[in-house]
Amino acid sequence: MHNSQMTTELLPNDLPAEMLQPTVDALGRPLRDLRISLLDQCNFRCPYCMPEAEFHSEYEFLKRQQRLTYDEIIRVAAAAIDLGVSKIRLTGGEPLLDKNIGSLIERIAALPGVQDLALTTNGMLLAGAAEKLAHAGLHRVTVSLDSLDKDVFRSMSGGRGDLDKVLSGIKAAESAGLGPIKINVVVQKGVNDHTLLDLLEYFRGSGNIVRLIEFMDVGNCNGWRMNQVVPSRDLLEKIGQRWPLRPVGKNYAGEVARRYEYVDGAGEIGFISSVTEPFCGDCSRARLSADGMLYTCLFANQGTDLREPLRNGADDDELRDILSSIWLQRADRYSELRTPELAEHHVLKKVEMYRIGG
Ligand code: SF4
Repeated sequence: MHNSQMTTELLPNDLPAEMLQPTVDALGRPLRDLRISLLDQCNFRCPYCMPEAEFHSEYEFLKRQQRLTYDEIIRVAAAAIDLGVSKIRLTGGEPLLDKNIGSLIERIAALPGVQDLALTTNGMLLAGAAEKLAHAGLHRVTVSLDSLDKDVFRSMSGGRGDLDKVLSGIKAAESAGLGPIKINVVVQKGVNDHTLLDLLEYFRGSGNIVRLIEFMDVGNCNGWRMNQVVPSRDLLEKIGQRWPLRPVGKNYAGEVARRYEYVDGAGEIGFISSVTEPFCGDCSRARLSADGMLYTCLFANQGTDLREPLRNGADDDELRDILSSIWLQRADRYSELRTPELAEHHVLKKVEMYRIGG
């Protein structure tokens, strides 16, 4: 045991060191990452996440009072940090639709124990926000960008995306020091797979990292079929024929992407292969929805309501105990158990991705 002076300085929320061993779940996986969805609304209608037919102009999204306040979000984040979380990702819907996000970022960045504070966005509002986000204390951004082909991009954003705005958003984030920027590309067979080499070409040598994501059966309404999935190993082969690649190790345990670098030094790309090479074994992620439901898997079919205890006087110890008991019982490994039949027939009613962020 260290001397008391040093331990107190290092430990968030002044807790004895023994309480800061990361809480591990029923499969021995520590809680390290918390994804916080700020709102369920989005300015895109990506068919694989929020198809227009379901989420049309009359659709009722969460009202302000149904969403957690910043104070409530900070309380959950602080409790999660006490249990081992060191990485926080802000997501949505589209988090940049929240005009006051800068003040929340400042407060999260100030929480002792936050080592990595990131944000996932579709990039449409990034150009005007990047400086403010960096100034508030954000460490880095991930931008979802499925194609550089204008028509393909447009259709994959539900007819609402403006490619030039997203590309200038990426430039602004680079200038604001929020890089290296991760570029997330959901790959769908016959939709955008024929445009991937152009996108990779564009980002080669930029220092930004393209991650190719296998199309997943998230939620219940994206019409997922196994025959729309392009296995990462096929992509790896196709890309390797154009630009030789070599594997590189993980940055940290629980990292979702399998990393490769171009042999010619033009940078790094990644593959997120939840369908063909599941990575539940070291999944350390919890997800908080905008209305305060905590989910322990992207494909969860139920969550735990934290808003109720937050608004009914639960103190920090009680909140921490609730979170701890959720994680200790966690045994999710949906992607390892997934079968095309299970997924295609939507046997399980799963939480929608837009409610918890990818
Ligand atoms: S399927 Fe669930 S448990 Fe597995 S990696 Fe994804 S979020 Fe984690």
